Amino acid sequence: MSVFIRFKKRAGELSQPRAIFTVLFAVALVALLIFGVSARREKEVVSESFHLGTYINLRAYGRDKKFLETELNGAKSEMSRLEGLFSANIADSDISRAGASSGEWVEISAETASLAARSLEIANMTGGTFDPTIGAIVKLWGIGTSSARVPSREETAQALAAAGWEKVSLCEEDGKYFIKLAHGQMLDMGAIAKGRVADIVRAKLADDGVTCALLNLGGNVVVIGSAPNGGPWKIGIQHPDEPRGEYIGFFAVTDSSVVTSGAYERYFEADGVRYCHIFDPSTGLPAVSDISSVTIADADSTFADALCTALYVMGCAKSLEFMRARPDIAAVVVSDKKVYITPAAKKTFTLTDKNFTLEEIPQ
Ligand code: AMP
Ligand code: MG
Repeated sequence: MSVFIRFKKRAGELSQPRAIFTVLFAVALVALLIFGVSARREKEVVSESFHLGTYINLRAYGRDKKFLETELNGAKSEMSRLEGLFSANIADSDISRAGASSGEWVEISAETASLAARSLEIANMTGGTFDPTIGAIVKLWGIGTSSARVPSREETAQALAAAGWEKVSLCEEDGKYFIKLAHGQMLDMGAIAKGRVADIVRAKLADDGVTCALLNLGGNVVVIGSAPNGGPWKIGIQHPDEPRGEYIGFFAVTDSSVVTSGAYERYFEADGVRYCHIFDPSTGLPAVSDISSVTIADADSTFADALCTALYVMGCAKSLEFMRARPDIAAVVVSDKKVYITPAAKKTFTLTDKNFTLEEIPQ
């Protein structure tokens, strides 16, 4: 009884459980307020530029605007430096110099040597459907440039004769890197360079302490951390037949990259025929594929970029066969009105356009 009397509340006094609840509620409210204020303090810094033949849009989020601006300016300079190494359209780039001295050893930067080595690995893995040695073919057709044209069969045959990733040699001596191409051979890193540049820039930003950013290199998207709202980034997959910005679905990812290849991206029309910018290295002709678009979501953007191009060249049946053996790679292949996904993509991809049907690629 006495116990009961001691705990009996006075006017305005709370019972013990209610008091605990009130304290917890107050703490939660304060935390929410602090979080709300700090979330509002998150700044967005945007940087737009044109590198590697494409529009680049970088967005970084955080409290320190000055820091983010410095970081994105640094990223812009880095992209420009890397373009100077990897571009086939810059006369003194590593890639152009290697092509100009085919048959001879040429010294290249460590970054170009690393990219070339990775390219050869992926060319091997994809049965040469991705082949960085079709530079002469790409130049001959000029798709995406003002001098695009349909070359003669002889020209195509001649440009193709020098191609072949197996003919490339790489070596390292005393910390210096060298490449040797076959006579008449030219490199083109257009199918992989955006991914590699995105990987390098992402690593630098993350090392410097950027924790939230979206890097869009002409559709090659790389994200750092989670989206500003704390959830995963939602990266839309472009509808292949609708205007830009119409999506068939999206990937929800953190710390990853999402890369798409498709004929709708860049093409050239002559006499009613549409020629896409992706070539079939076995013919030297623009690829004729029954794939509308193929998307890879992977932490390694270099790999995702090159693989998308390769799968596009393979066509639907072969690329599904290829992915069947690699269920851990998140891939989405759109062909006709079907959307094929790997088991890995099932976890992160959502189809929103109900005009398409979803099919899982069996293992
Ligand atoms: P992507 O947009 O990543 O699919 O890459 C297409 C670009 O890569 C083209 O504009 C060419 O510069 C180059 N390219 C085209 N076809 C191939 C191929 N089969 N293998 C390697 N590079 C290619
Ligand atoms: Mg690519």
